Amino acid sequence: MFGYKCQECGQGTVQPTTFRNYETRFGKRPFVVPEAVIGVCDLCGAQHFNAREWKRWRQLHAEQHEARVKTTVSMPASVHLKLQSLRKTRKCSQSAIITELIRNAS
Ligand SMILES: [Zn+2]
Repeated sequence: MFGYKCQECGQGTVQPTTFRNYETRFGKRPFVVPEAVIGVCDLCGAQHFNAREWKRWRQLHAEQHEARVKTTVSMPASVHLKLQSLRKTRKCSQSAIITELIRNAS
């Protein structure tokens, strides 16, 4: 996917280069790619992004985001049901209910 002539200088060759912890952005979210393969011109140093590589980053980003969402909402179904019923009967904040549930469980 690399090894073609650089469009910036017209003379150098674009070589695949691996960057560790490469910082990029998706919309307004910063994202660090653990291992990013970017084409770098051996003459002028211009960076050439590959569409397939970009897609791979986006996929990685989506997976990480999903994993984060899953950990924040993960709680046993029984606790979730308890929480719902408690919320219906009492008008207190969710954190107060969770504190109470933890106290009851221990
Ligand atoms: Zn170049």
